[in-house]
Amino acid sequence: MTTSELAELITLRRDLHSWPDLSGEEEATSQRLKKFFKQLHPDEWVENLGPHGFAVIFEGKVAGPVTLLRAELDALPIREDDAKSYISQRPGVAHLCGHDGHMAILCGIGMILSKERPATGRVVLLFQPAEETGEGAQQVLTSENFKRIIPDFAFALHNLPGYRKNQIVLKKGPFTAASKGMIVTFSGRTSHAAHPEDGNSPALAMSKAIVGLENLPSSIQEFSMITVVHAVLGEVAFGTAPGEAVVMATLRTFDDVGLERLSTLATTFVALIANESGLKVTVSFRDDFKAVVNDEKAWEYVNRAAKENKLKTKNIRTPFRWSEDFGHFSRVTKTVLFGIGAGQRHPQLHESSYDFPDDLIPTGINMFKKILQDIHY
Ligand SMILES: [Zn+2]
Ligand SMILES: [Zn+2]
Repeated sequence: MTTSELAELITLRRDLHSWPDLSGEEEATSQRLKKFFKQLHPDEWVENLGPHGFAVIFEGKVAGPVTLLRAELDALPIREDDAKSYISQRPGVAHLCGHDGHMAILCGIGMILSKERPATGRVVLLFQPAEETGEGAQQVLTSENFKRIIPDFAFALHNLPGYRKNQIVLKKGPFTAASKGMIVTFSGRTSHAAHPEDGNSPALAMSKAIVGLENLPSSIQEFSMITVVHAVLGEVAFGTAPGEAVVMATLRTFDDVGLERLSTLATTFVALIANESGLKVTVSFRDDFKAVVNDEKAWEYVNRAAKENKLKTKNIRTPFRWSEDFGHFSRVTKTVLFGIGAGQRHPQLHESSYDFPDDLIPTGINMFKKILQDIHY
């Protein structure tokens, strides 16, 4: 990678940063990247991988393994601090998870592959939509065109504030948690606020659910966690006793089966509460993230790449509590998600002052490059 190529990637990263798109609305970002890849002449284009998702393929001379590298297209509905020249031009939307940097890294790999194709097999560079909502990976996997890019191995990286800059963070087996959002609606009956006894208010049931849901995992041995994230009771009307309440919570465990068990337990629990108060209850789930499970053989490739690049590695003992929708790929192929430290004092992901450190771009490129060399050359 030449200095001018790296400068081009930094400009691209900052350009993507200035024009962020929300999950599922990544059309402009997708177009910007396609323009970049046109000049690299990949061997194949695969479109319609979920809304705005696409992949480019670089083909080897002889048949061999298929390796997929993934980057995320989406930004977040958060306002960023305005201390940079390339600040977001879309009010209230910003790349505060570093997906702009992850995209630039994959573009850098594209530059390398356009000059030297893999010797064997094929390399798929996938730009996936809607990671932040947990929908994108699933949309890619269920799209008709996924058949054209089914990989033997899939790799992704994520920058990690809180870790030393350029340190490679690794783990075999479970790497990030499975999680999903639970929406509980209690329905009773409104009444005049002067005659609450004529209605059926869900206020008590809602309070029990808020306290009880968070305590529920204490009865489970393996790691599990419920965090109440939102609650609404009735309307803003002093004359009316409420008839409806909504409680939303995020459920987390380190494996998919455990999450199903926790969901069943939480559903039974809120049904009992509703029953005690004679209320109707409905439960639905969304933002479904599967656990990312790192394959042992794929882990070896990443570990070796870190060693060959003379990068410090840190093998963590327990999985991260946060989720990544790359976990959906873990269910269909051999995957590794690894971290690249973004600096111990760097603002955390999703904080308004966060910005992807540009000096992680060459590190990410060197990691993927070595992994591909190992598999395809
Ligand atoms: Zn994020
Ligand atoms: Zn992210």
